[in-house]
Amino acid sequence: MISRLVRNRTIVQTLNRASTIRCLSTFDKHRSVFESLGLDKTNNKGVFDGEWKGSGEIVPSYNPVNNEIMAEVITGTPDDLNTAFEKVAEAQKIWRELPAPKRGHVMLTMRNALVENLQPLGKLVALEMGKILPEGIGEVQEYIDILEYALGLSRTMQGAIIPSERPGHAMLETWNPLGTVGIISAFNFPVAVYGWNCAIALITGNGTIWKPAPTTSLVSIAVTRIIAKALKDHDMPTSLCALVTGGTDVGQSMVQDNRAHLLSFTGSTEVGRQVGKVVQGRFGKSILELGGNNAIIVTDDCDLDLAARAILFAAVGTAGQRCTTTRRLIVQESVYDTLVERLKKAYKQVKVGDPLDEGVLCGPLHTKQAVEAYKKALEQVKAEGGEIITGGRVIDDGPLKHGNFVEPTMTRVRSDMKVVQHEAFVPILHTMTYKTLDEAIAINNNVKQGLSSSIFTSNPSTIFKWIGPSGSDCGIINVNIPTNGAEIGGAFGGEKETGGGRESGSDSWKQYCRRGTCTINYSGALPLAQGINFG
Ligand code: NAD
Repeated sequence: MISRLVRNRTIVQTLNRASTIRCLSTFDKHRSVFESLGLDKTNNKGVFDGEWKGSGEIVPSYNPVNNEIMAEVITGTPDDLNTAFEKVAEAQKIWRELPAPKRGHVMLTMRNALVENLQPLGKLVALEMGKILPEGIGEVQEYIDILEYALGLSRTMQGAIIPSERPGHAMLETWNPLGTVGIISAFNFPVAVYGWNCAIALITGNGTIWKPAPTTSLVSIAVTRIIAKALKDHDMPTSLCALVTGGTDVGQSMVQDNRAHLLSFTGSTEVGRQVGKVVQGRFGKSILELGGNNAIIVTDDCDLDLAARAILFAAVGTAGQRCTTTRRLIVQESVYDTLVERLKKAYKQVKVGDPLDEGVLCGPLHTKQAVEAYKKALEQVKAEGGEIITGGRVIDDGPLKHGNFVEPTMTRVRSDMKVVQHEAFVPILHTMTYKTLDEAIAINNNVKQGLSSSIFTSNPSTIFKWIGPSGSDCGIINVNIPTNGAEIGGAFGGEKETGGGRESGSDSWKQYCRRGTCTINYSGALPLAQGINFG
């Protein structure tokens, strides 16, 4: 193990040396952010199970603005994960006995700690993931919001009392914790996705183990520190919320482990398909939050100005790296030219650049692989006879040339092209036309994914058709707002190859619980159900 560590350290040190001058600058420039969150340049332990440790590979964290190494993380291994499972189980025995409203007090402390760290943590998200600062801060705000929601739940989670058909019997439902919730998260929401799961898992009495995306390990360490301190302030075992950073080996071990009583996976459909099968194979529970292929329908009776502003945010925000990003724009043919002209103008005004700079609306893609995916998707558009109507260029010159920057892009395609079936996780918006509402809804539904959808209209009958049985088949069905930017109060998730999972608000908390149907006989007799007379 030690030799592997040394070898990996050597590789990273070589990498470091290769970009020494550029490498040191990001950390030094933002030293106060890193240090206020307890992060170091070289010695960040990426495993927490009550103690900070790490015996796996040393992984660099890159700044997508210039591909500099910002800092390095000593990640975890399946062995670390094994220990974490044991530690979380011990802690959860204590936690589950704490009455839910008392758990709520702990959540309130977590919330306050995140409020205190809102700015630096939001900045770290912008630095490591690459989203613009307001979105980085917004993501931390989402965790704050869901903790407030959990505090409310702590006094409102209720089970049913059901009329019994037998005299002298009471029937009721109980909702008890499952045990340990394993959380595997994607790179694009390095705080919020864990936040949703953590808040609801904890308030329902569970412990958590988090395996974040390997490219956003710094954020996960910072978040875990904040949460652990809040637990400690309440004399609760800090191992209740464990962290094991690492790659596929750690993820796969978690998925296979029976001790992950609920496995909440957020990521691509490709990986989610494997995860779902493995968890099902051991009869575990899973929540799958997978890829989307979201569409906005623009009718001829809507406010086009409102629609254009919404589309710009939905397609370009987070540089197209939200699961709910609008990927397909389905426009009534009579308003297509007007809308597209407006959008073209708006696209040209979008400032692409460093996500920490004021006025920038589109930051870099997260990795160089994503830049390749952008190129490939546009090649496919052309190969299938589509057209690029604005953007379409990788920015490989000028001050942004060292980063993963691309121009936000719109294409003109037909709805039956293969390219529109796939989620390219980049800022490409495929535009197409329709004649009738039925046709538009059919185009919306005619993809394998089913996450988010939206229609712009002022016609009430269109709205009710859209949200009804012959309407959108997605989990999120919006009217006159973009496909992205969900609130935490609603259940979040999607149908079909998006995985069917629901997180966050509404009654999603029930998925983190073991449901019990209890019948209590206080009659002294033994009447059987269905009037059966047994001897
Ligand atoms: P990804 O599937 O590549 O990785 C997600 C996570 O799974 C990472 O932590 C990764 O290390 C881990 N992983 C990889 N292989 C694994 C395996 N075999 N077993 C267990 N874990 C494994 O996804 P990504 O590129 O990080 O994120 C982008 C994708 O996530 C997009 O498809 C996006 O739509 C989706 N996403 C969905 C939602 C949602 O709520 N529906 C939210 C955010 C992102």
